Amino acid sequence: MKKILILTLSLFLLFFMIHLFSEAEKTVEVTKYNGKLKQIGDNWFLNTGEDFFELSLAPSSFLAENKIELVSKSKVYLNGNFKEDVIDVFTIFTEKDSVNLRDEFGNKLWEMSKIKPYLVNAKRCIGCRLCTFNCPTNAIEMVNGVAVIDADNCIACGICADGNGKKYRGCPVGAISQIE
Ligand code: SF4
Ligand code: SF4
Repeated sequence: MKKILILTLSLFLLFFMIHLFSEAEKTVEVTKYNGKLKQIGDNWFLNTGEDFFELSLAPSSFLAENKIELVSKSKVYLNGNFKEDVIDVFTIFTEKDSVNLRDEFGNKLWEMSKIKPYLVNAKRCIGCRLCTFNCPTNAIEMVNGVAVIDADNCIACGICADGNGKKYRGCPVGAISQIE
C-alpha cells in the first residue's frame, strides 16, 4: 500500500514538473521590443514591421496620470513577457520617459495581442471591389483585378469577409478569410 502511495505521488510530481517546464518554455521575455504606434478610431496598435498588435488594458486615466502620451507613428519600446501571441507589458519606454505598467497590487495594466490579418484567395476573387470600399483602414487595394490585403494595415476586424452589419454583407464569393 505504501509503495503504491509513493508511486502515485512520484507520478503526480513528475507530471507537475513537466507541466511547469512546458509552461515556462512557452513564455519568452522580451526586452526593448519596439514598433510604431498607430491609432485607428479609438483603438491603438503597434506595428513592429513584422507583426501587428492591438493594445489593450491601461485605462486612459492611468496614462494621463503617468504622462504617457500616445502619438501615432511615434516609436515606443516595451519590456514584457510574450506568450501565445500576447505580450504582457511590464514597462513602456517613450521618447521622454519609462513607466511601469503595474497597479499597486502588481496586477498587469497593459497587454498586446498579435493580430492575425485577413487574406484574399486570389483564385476566388471576382474583382468586384466591394471589400476595398468597406475596409476601415484602407488596407485593401486592387492589383491586376484582384483584391490584395496589406497585412501591416489590417486590424483583423473581419468586415471585408463578413460584412459591416449594415449594407455590406461581406465578400460575395467568400474569397476572404483570416490567416490561421
Ligand atoms: S469583395 Fe471579394 S470578390 Fe470582391 S474584390 Fe473583395 S475579395 Fe474580391
Ligand atoms: S479584416 Fe478586412 S476590413 Fe478589416 S482591416 Fe483587415 S482588410 Fe480591412
